[in-house]
Amino acid sequence: MKTSELTDLNIAVVGAGYGGAAAAKALSLLGATVNVYEQASQVREVGAGIGLRPSTMDRFRQWGSFNAVAKVSSPSDYFEILTATGEPIMKEAWPGINDFAEETKTHLIHRGDFIEALLGVLPEGMVHLGHKLEAIEDKGGRAVLTFANGNTAEADLVIGADGIKSVVRKQLFSDKEPVFSGEHAYRAVASTDHAYGMVVDDNFRMYIGSRTKIYLLPLRHRNQMSFDITTLSGDSSWNPAMTKDDLLEVVEGFDERIVNIVRDLDLDTVNCRAVYDIDPIDVWHSDSVVLLGDAAHSMLHHQGQGANSAIMDAGALADALQDAESVAVALAKYQSTRKPETDELQRISRQGWAEDEVDDVFPGQKTSTNNQEK
Ligand SMILES: Cc1cc2nc3c(=O)[nH]c(=O)nc-3n(C[C@H](O)[C@H](O)[C@H](O)COP(=O)(O)OP(=O)(O)OC[C@H]3O[C@@H](n4cnc5c(N)ncnc54)[C@H](O)[C@@H]3O)c2cc1C
Repeated sequence: MKTSELTDLNIAVVGAGYGGAAAAKALSLLGATVNVYEQASQVREVGAGIGLRPSTMDRFRQWGSFNAVAKVSSPSDYFEILTATGEPIMKEAWPGINDFAEETKTHLIHRGDFIEALLGVLPEGMVHLGHKLEAIEDKGGRAVLTFANGNTAEADLVIGADGIKSVVRKQLFSDKEPVFSGEHAYRAVASTDHAYGMVVDDNFRMYIGSRTKIYLLPLRHRNQMSFDITTLSGDSSWNPAMTKDDLLEVVEGFDERIVNIVRDLDLDTVNCRAVYDIDPIDVWHSDSVVLLGDAAHSMLHHQGQGANSAIMDAGALADALQDAESVAVALAKYQSTRKPETDELQRISRQGWAEDEVDDVFPGQKTSTNNQEK
C-alpha cells in the first residue's frame, strides 16, 4: 500500500499480550494510527520464562526494539534433551542463529520482563486498559467494537490478538471451543541459589520422564531459573488445585536435585493450569478483521513456539500491508504466509507424548494429544 494509504489507516488491536503489543509496534512504524484495547486494568504475566528465537529477535531488530528486549534477557546457544535422571538424549544449537546479517541467538526471558519491554516501546496513550471486548460487528471495509465498559470504537482494520479464548474468533470465524490437551503445566521462577547446581550456563534443558517433562530455563541476568513441570492429567479445570505432595509424586524418579527444587518451591508462587490448544481454523480474516497469535492458532507449548509465532505473525502482517494494494489483499497474503507454518506447529506440538503414555492415562477419552494424526 502507498505510504499515504498506510498513514490514513485506523487500526484497532484487541489484546495487549505479546502478539497485540508486537503488532502495535510493527503497524505504527508503517505510519498507521493504532489503538490497542486490553481487558485487564494492568497487564501482568505469569512467573515463567520463555525462549525468544533468532527469527523473533531479528524482528525486534527491524522494529528498533532489540535492545529493550536484550537488556532483560540472556543469549543462549543451544538446548538439550535429557532423561529424567540426566542422561543426554540430544543437544542442538538453536536453529537460525546464523540466518541473519548479524549472529542472532535465542534469548531467554522472564514473561513479565518481556511484556514490559514490548509495551514500553509503544507510544504513550496507545494502549487502553480496562477495555474488554464484548461484541464485534464486521461492516465490510471497517468494523465496530463494543466494550464491556460501554465504549465503542470503529476501525478500518481490527486485529484480534485476544488469546486462546478470543471473542473476535468466536464471533466471526469459528465457534469451536479450545481443546483440553490432557496436560497440566506447573510453572515457577526460583533463585539459582536454590538450583542444587543444575543451572550451569545459559542453555535450556528438558528432562523427560514417564508422563512428565521438566523444562529448566536459566534467567541468569536475574540470578533465577524458570522451572516448568508438564504432566499428563485427566483434570480439565483451567486452574486445577495442586498440593506439594501431588507435585512430589509427579517428579518421582527424576534426578534427586530436581526433586529437591520441587520440595523447596513456595506453592503460592507456582502457576498451575490445565493446558489447552485449538484445532486449526480455516479462515483467519475477512476484509477488515484478522486474527493473530493464540487467537488464530493456539498451540501446545512443547516446541516453545506460541509467543514466537505471535511475533512472527505481527511481522508478516506488517510486511503484507506494505506490499499489497489493499487491506483485503494484505490479509489474504498474511494468512497464506503464516497459516501453513502454524498449522504444522499445531500438529507437531500435539505429538509430545508416546502413544502408550497417553492411552494409559486417558483410555477412551478425547484430548488434543490423543486425537492427533499419528
Ligand atoms: C505452559 C505454557 C508454556 C508456554 N511456553 C512457551 C514458550 O516457551 N515459548 C513460546 O513461544 N510460547 C510459549 N507458550 C505460549 C505463549 O504463552 C502464547 O502462545 C502467547 O502468550 C500468545 O500470545 P498472544 O498475544 O497471542 O495471546 P495472550 O498472551 O493470551 O494475550 C492475549 C491478550 O488479550 C487480552 N484479551 C483477551 N480477551 C480479551 C477481550 N475480550 N477484550 C480485550 N482484551 C482481551 C488478554 O487479557 C491478553 O492480554 C506457553 C504457553 C503455556 C500455556
